[in-house]
Amino acid sequence: MVKDDCIFCKIAAGEIPSKTIYEDEKYRVILDLGPATRGHALILPKNHYANLFELPEEDAKEVICLAKKMATIMKDKLGCDGFNLVQNNGEAAGQTVFHFHMHLIPRYENDGQEIGWKPGSPSQDELEEIKKQIAGE
Ligand code: AMP
Ligand code: ZN
Repeated sequence: MVKDDCIFCKIAAGEIPSKTIYEDEKYRVILDLGPATRGHALILPKNHYANLFELPEEDAKEVICLAKKMATIMKDKLGCDGFNLVQNNGEAAGQTVFHFHMHLIPRYENDGQEIGWKPGSPSQDELEEIKKQIAGE
């Protein structure tokens, strides 16, 4: 369940050192080496799944529960003012390491980071078309 040439597999297994802030049988949570803000961390499953689409449903539930648990601890310990959970899938979405991971990003008033998007302005017709494409009639 690990991939030979995957750096996050090696970090999750403890073969490459990391600043680990939590570990259990299935997950390791590490500090990001290129943090958006102070305390930016990553949840890594120890099994290799390239992205959300490969992640088993049971693991997806565990990841979100772990994210909540870590965010709660980090908010308390770091005294941050807000929190972003970010999870990128595919190059087009900004994924650079193709081993599933969830970003835990503490936010501070005036931290100067921009994590977001430019809002579009679709017409009601466009929204209706998209709705039908995804959800049917
Ligand atoms: P993503 O763009 O969603 O694939 O995120 C990859 C993240 O992994 C980036 O925030 C990187 O800073 C981080 N990263 C890459 N290599 C390492 C590493 N060896 N240890 C810790 N974080 C890393
Ligand atoms: Zn991997």
